[in-house]
Amino acid sequence: MARAAEALIDLPALAHNLRRAREAMPGSRVMAVVKANGYGHGVERVAGALRSADAFAVACLDEAEQLRESGFAHPINVLEGFYDVEELRRFSRHHVDATIHQPEQIEALERTRIDRPLKVWLKIDTGMHRLGVAPEQARALWERLNACSAVGGIGLMTHLANADNRNDPTTERQLLAFTGAIGHLHGERSIANSAGILGWPAASGDWIRSGIMLYGASPFCDSTAAEERLRPVMTLQTGLIAIRDLAAGERLGYGGTWCSDKPSRIGVAAIGYGDGYPRHAPSGTSVLVEGQRAPLVGRVSMDMITIDLTELPEAKIGDRVVLWGAGLPAEEVARQAGTIPYELFCQVTRRVKFREHSGSSP
Ligand SMILES: *Cc1c(COP(=O)(O)O)cnc(C)c1O
Repeated sequence: MARAAEALIDLPALAHNLRRAREAMPGSRVMAVVKANGYGHGVERVAGALRSADAFAVACLDEAEQLRESGFAHPINVLEGFYDVEELRRFSRHHVDATIHQPEQIEALERTRIDRPLKVWLKIDTGMHRLGVAPEQARALWERLNACSAVGGIGLMTHLANADNRNDPTTERQLLAFTGAIGHLHGERSIANSAGILGWPAASGDWIRSGIMLYGASPFCDSTAAEERLRPVMTLQTGLIAIRDLAAGERLGYGGTWCSDKPSRIGVAAIGYGDGYPRHAPSGTSVLVEGQRAPLVGRVSMDMITIDLTELPEAKIGDRVVLWGAGLPAEEVARQAGTIPYELFCQVTRRVKFREHSGSSP
């Protein structure tokens, strides 16, 4: 019997979520963010299902080259830009756009001869303080880019730090800072990530950069995908491989962190942190056994988890166990495990079999 852990990828859900992004900001073109192997979903299948996006965005050049090798001819923005002149030449060769976030990159553009000028996105730091040039420098740097023969077009972008909280005033401040910094500079504007797209109408622009929402998870700390009218894309599932009875007062698993307070029926499911299920998911984290909720109990081990089936007497070996996805929001599991859906998705390992399916109707 093949090991059961698999990730079902609902391709129509990806297309649905892309339509949801367009519907939220109808005047904007969509850069579909497919970095980190399509947020762990498999970049080729994701990009294929999101073929109607206007562009892709990735974190680094390797990811862009992979898309080119797979035959995608879309504009691709590399969100961290290039690191050196050698990389810059590869950007030009593969016709890849670069985010420019520090003056060293502009110097590289100024002293390098390349065959094909690059489209660049000048990124302005409006409060995230990770990447980006200071607002006061924006105009001078734009002028340098504009005078540079290696540059074929300039967009203007910023990134929102706190848009996942609709009550946080930081976003308004960032929007004001962006408008102030770019003034009347010529170029397309791009501000919104998923939280910006769904929560901050004022963050619309010529381009939006949708990531997590495409994969069907809510970007907000206080809402679910269903409330945002998003459809989950990944369902992580496995099977029950063993069931045992524990007497009251028996400890379970590594470290004996969980102890039965009454006679209990424990199911063992074939998935663990070796598959990307989070090891720090505590006892009480929800799983679905044939569609019914049951709590994880005891420590997550590399290949297995243990589930309290005492309330599900009909559960049997071979039953389907869903860790997140259809019927069990990844947001909920992430919250219980002290993380975010982004991390759950990205951590699914190569041992898990990925299978595409055409999903249920919306
Ligand atoms: C990852 C990323 C995004 C997408 O963010 P989501 O929250 O997943 O929508 C957008 N812009 C930049 C600069 C990013 O790094």
